[in-house]
Amino acid sequence: GIRFEKVIKRFGSNTVLRELDFTVAPGERVTLIGPSGSGKTTILRLLMTLEKPDGGLIFVGDDPLWHMDRGGKRVPANQKHLHEMRKRIGMVFQQFNLFPNMNVLRNLTEGPMRVLGVPRDEAVERAKGLLDLVGLADKIDAHPSQLSGGQQQRVAIARALAMEPQVLLLDEVTSALDPELVVGVQDLLRDIARQSDLTLLCVTHEMTFAKDISDRVLMFDQGQIVEEGPPERMFGEPSEQRTRDFLQAVL
Ligand code: ATP
Repeated sequence: GIRFEKVIKRFGSNTVLRELDFTVAPGERVTLIGPSGSGKTTILRLLMTLEKPDGGLIFVGDDPLWHMDRGGKRVPANQKHLHEMRKRIGMVFQQFNLFPNMNVLRNLTEGPMRVLGVPRDEAVERAKGLLDLVGLADKIDAHPSQLSGGQQQRVAIARALAMEPQVLLLDEVTSALDPELVVGVQDLLRDIARQSDLTLLCVTHEMTFAKDISDRVLMFDQGQIVEEGPPERMFGEPSEQRTRDFLQAVL
């Protein structure tokens, strides 16, 4: 699972997270919703250690990502620890971010071989299985530039899963796709989420997708969680005015 404890994040004078607390239980599927620019991507980037918090603690599994040094600064326990922590987390981005100079197979085998030390044969077998899962077995030799946006995003999903993460982070994964490709990718992710024991943290503006994919929805605004609950209640009868205003604007 994931735990944020009083996490503070600032960019200059802009405080984006204000002692943010939330937990995602192991195997739980949670969606973060909230206004644009409120800091949802920052939460995912903190988990990927692409950003450092200015206060508080972030746990992945039972271990904190960062430790405090004597001067009160966040530092990783050491590079080895950070490396181990990163292995637990997979992320799928809005902009696919495939390795452009590698074919689909290598996109899927590079991480497992280099980072996890999986033998080539095994990595290739796993990649083939994942390409079957995402419906792209016939694209194994293609380069990313030869694929549609929807196909690239399916490869990106397969690539994240190839690392066998405990936690999968999804950041607006369909917002760069042509409208006709959105549902296919959403259905794929919904099926993966339901069939696996992955811990899932998803950021999306698509409320139908949020309803489909999550056990719990967190409404995030002004650096804190405003309200949370199962999707049926959050979308059906939100109790906070800020949630109602937000939903009215996006639905
Ligand atoms: P959206 O839904 O539009 O993607 P978001 O909720 O994901 O928005 P973030 O991208 O996390 O929001 O950004 C939160 C705030 O932090 C914004 O005000 C943004 O301008 C600011 N911010 C994010 N990254 C940086 C950075 N590297 N340097 C300075 N400010 C940043």
